[in-house]
Amino acid sequence: MEVVEKSFMLLPPADGKCRICAAEHKPESPHDGTSLFYHTRFNMRYKRPATWADAIAHCSPEMRAVIATFLAGKGLWTEPPAGVKPISEPIDS
Ligand SMILES: [Zn+2]
Repeated sequence: MEVVEKSFMLLPPADGKCRICAAEHKPESPHDGTSLFYHTRFNMRYKRPATWADAIAHCSPEMRAVIATFLAGKGLWTEPPAGVKPISEPIDS
């Protein structure tokens, strides 16, 4: 079977939106961990699925703790496999 390499461009988010997740949020707030843009961009760049731990890695320790507890309580918390560190992507970097 012929293998066809698939590639595509990810269009940049609209003006005023976060360039990491394409949502509108403050730099110190989490990226939108439910954003298809965020997941697609992350996977293209880092070759692994994005997790909530990645989406909040640039937040303060206090904010990370609150969000992680909240999401874990809803059964939604995700993090990289053991031994893989979350990737912090501040908006301004
Ligand atoms: Zn974002």
